[in-house]
Order: sequence, then structure tokens, then C-alpha cells
Amino acid sequence: MNQEASKRIVVIGAGIVGASLAYHLASKGAQVTVVEAGGIASGVTGTSFAWINASCAGMDPIAALRGGAIGAWRRLETQVRGLQVRWDGALSYGTQDGRLSPESVVIDRSRIAQLEPGLRRPPEQALHEPEQGALDAVAATHALLAAAQALDATVRTQTPVQGFAVRDGKVTGVETATGLIEADLVVLAAGTGTAKLAAQLGVDLPIHASPAIFLRYQAPPGLVRGIISSHAMEVRQAEDGTMLAAEDYLDDTPENQPAAMAQRTASAIRNELEGAEAIVPEFACIGLRPMPFDGVPVIGYLPNIEGVYVCAMHPGVVLAAIVGQQASGEIVDGQPAAALEACRPARFLVR
Ligand SMILES: Cc1cc2nc3c(=O)[nH]c(=O)nc-3n(C[C@H](O)[C@H](O)[C@H](O)COP(=O)(O)OP(=O)(O)OC[C@H]3O[C@@H](n4cnc5c(N)ncnc54)[C@H](O)[C@@H]3O)c2cc1C
Repeated sequence: MNQEASKRIVVIGAGIVGASLAYHLASKGAQVTVVEAGGIASGVTGTSFAWINASCAGMDPIAALRGGAIGAWRRLETQVRGLQVRWDGALSYGTQDGRLSPESVVIDRSRIAQLEPGLRRPPEQALHEPEQGALDAVAATHALLAAAQALDATVRTQTPVQGFAVRDGKVTGVETATGLIEADLVVLAAGTGTAKLAAQLGVDLPIHASPAIFLRYQAPPGLVRGIISSHAMEVRQAEDGTMLAAEDYLDDTPENQPAAMAQRTASAIRNELEGAEAIVPEFACIGLRPMPFDGVPVIGYLPNIEGVYVCAMHPGVVLAAIVGQQASGEIVDGQPAAALEACRPARFLVR
């Protein structure tokens, strides 16, 4: 174990990113305390579509990171008890986003019908990405934190971080309503709360809260096998039948409120899928994604103050496993990760 490994590390945020970091840091021997304002996965992780989709449209500044994302989740599945990803692949058609992954293949109508027999009108062609998967983001966050706790990490929920203790230009702990938690390093994995925490340290990180619509339905099991992303709907289904859908946020007019969109999307799903007449909207909300201004994750040490490492990104579910692995290597082993170079917070501070 090296010197950093025995150090006390506070991770702020028990979403999927903080949970992955906590697990990876603890597995490298660090003394980890996770401090969470609400409950586990009470942030945007709790309302994620959670598609592990490593494809990207156009030039990708984080190609190396994204390219390792699926492998990192597959590795974590073998290490963390109770962590399960459904690797059922994804079908896309009629969307304009131009995403491509090296494994994607164009398939024809008969193959589409084989893969998703519930589709009433399979399109002529679709993009099939067989390597992709999805997980229950809440269950995965719990599993990662339980694995961290088994490695002696502590998880403190209902404990908002209110400020930082700073001595001689170095952060030495976090302030909470129940007192100071001392730390040799503080990791900001607080999702949309990250910018506010960094601002308390005098650092302006342009990470905004980007809205998206999360929809959940009760549905008969077996309507959808993998992920379907089309002009009409983006859906997937759990084994018990629970169907998840995600929609772009449009505006705050009454017709685009989550409950109205849940009804509209339900009609689209019924129109697209055989046997979907019985689906019932169960939950709908706006989730706020931590979106760096330039779309690139913000990962690394704050340059102007010692003792703080930032981890804020979208898509956080895709990247949580690989970032946990790479960032914990930097923090504990002291080896800068080449795959994280494009992500440094310092890019926002250079004038
Ligand atoms: C509809 C929808 C669909 C999505 N689909 C996908 C998808 O398919 N694939 C994908 O990869 N991503 C998707 N996302 C985005 C993904 O959910 C997020 O990128 C990811 O969950 C972010 O995780 P996180 O741990 O960074 O943030 P969070 O889950 O928000 O966790 C941060 C935690 O920090 C806590 N916190 C904040 N401030 C403080 C403080 N001062 N003190 C203590 N704790 C604090 C919060 O309470 C919160 O629990 C989707 C999001 C939405 C809304």
C-alpha cells in the first residue's frame, strides 16, 4: 500500500459517480467517508434511464475514456456483489443524433423483428449495438456503496456539506451540521451541487443543471427485450415489467410538464408495441443532469487549492465505472491517467 492509500478521503455525493469512486478508492486501501445530503441515489441517479451507451457522434475528446466504459462495467460486475447490468443491446432508428460505436451494425427488418418481436411495424433498417446494456442505477449505487462499506468505508446520509475547513491553502476537511469531518483529500462528486461547492473554494466551474424527462410505467413483462431508441420513443423494460422511458425536456408549458408527457409517451408506446395497451404511467419527473459547459467531464485536482479532486460529468452512468477506476488510480497511486487529460478542471481557469 502506498502513502496515499492510508489517507482519509471524503467523497461528497452518494450518486452513482460518488459510489463508484468510494468503492474503487476503498479497494485501493484508502479510508473513505461518503457524505451525502439526502439518501443514497437521491440525486439524478435516482431518475436515470441508465443506458450504458458508449457511442458518440463526431469527434470525441474523451474517446479513450468512453472506449473503456463498457469493459469497466463488465469488470465491476465480477467484483461487486449484487451489481448487475443487463447486456441486451440497443436498437436505434429514425433518430438524427448520428452516434456510432465500433460494434454497431445495420440490420434489416427481419432481424429487427427477431430481436424485438413486440414492435408492431419494425422499420426497414436499424442500428444494432449488441454490446450495450443498462442497469438499475439505484440498485447499482447501493451495491457499490455496500461493497465500499465491506472495505471499511463509512457512508453518512442526510448530511449536507456546508463548507470546508482550509488551512494554509489546503482543504483539511468538510463542515457539516454535526461537525467537521477531517480529510487529507476531498472529492467533489456532488452532481449538480458540485459547482456550488467549488464556488465556496473560490473556483468557478461552469457545470449547469440540464433537465431531461424521466418516465416510469407499469407494463406487462416482455414487451421490450433490449433498449429501443427511435423517433417515437426511448424505452427499456425490467424483468418485472417496469418500463422506463426518457424524453428531451422541451419547456415549462402545461402540455410539456412531466405528467402530460407521460400520457403522450404512453400513447406513442401503445402505438409502437404490441401488447402495450395496458401500460400505466407510474412516475414522471424532471431530472437535472450535471452538464459541464463544454460537454466534457470535469475530473481532476482543483489547481488553485490543495486537497480537492472534482468528478462531475454527463453521461454519469456510462462513465461511473471507468472514471472510478482511473481517478482512484490517480489519487491513490499518484499516476496521472492519460484518458482523463481532456477533463481537467484547470481548462476553465486559464484566462
Ligand atoms: C431522464 C434522464 C435520463 C438519463 N439517462 C442516462 C443514460 O441513459 N445514461 C447515462 O449515463 N446517464 C443518463 N442520465 C444522466 C445520469 O443520470 C447522471 O449523469 C448521473 O446519474 C450523475 O450521477 P452523479 O453521481 O454525478 O450525480 P447525482 O446522482 O446527482 O449524485 C450527486 C449527489 O450529491 C449530493 N450532494 C449535492 N450537494 C451536496 C452537498 N453539499 N453535501 C452532500 N451531498 C451533496 C446529492 O444529494 C446527490 O445525491 C440521465 C438523466 C436523466 C434525468
